[in-house]
Amino acid sequence: MASGYDRHQQRHEDIMALGRELGRRSRSRCELCGERTSLEIVEVPPLPEQPEADRALMVCARCRPAVEGGKLLGDPETWRFLAEAIWGELPPAQVVAVRATRRLAAQRVDWARVALDGLFLDPEIEALV
Ligand SMILES: [Zn+2]
Repeated sequence: MASGYDRHQQRHEDIMALGRELGRRSRSRCELCGERTSLEIVEVPPLPEQPEADRALMVCARCRPAVEGGKLLGDPETWRFLAEAIWGELPPAQVVAVRATRRLAAQRVDWARVALDGLFLDPEIEALV
């Protein structure tokens, strides 16, 4: 029987295997803010059975909490790029951007409320956010 460690290790290897595809897709930029440093692959929760490129993002260290549902650090104004990702064409980035922007809107951040106003998402995306 595979131990928890082995399963974790296997998942880690599967994620690394997505590296080439995500590296190409992202053009080695954070898929949320465009930053070029400290990039890593982060899965968008809830995690699928197997890691998938459509459920993962190449992001910088600062954007990682946005993907994982953690606290968004710094001035909310500096997260405005999320509004662009909402309207982008990359589903996992849209999902993460909508979730994070909704959290900021709940904190009464103006640009976030404006970005969500009248937003109509693909049913497939809406089901995930
Ligand atoms: Zn970023």
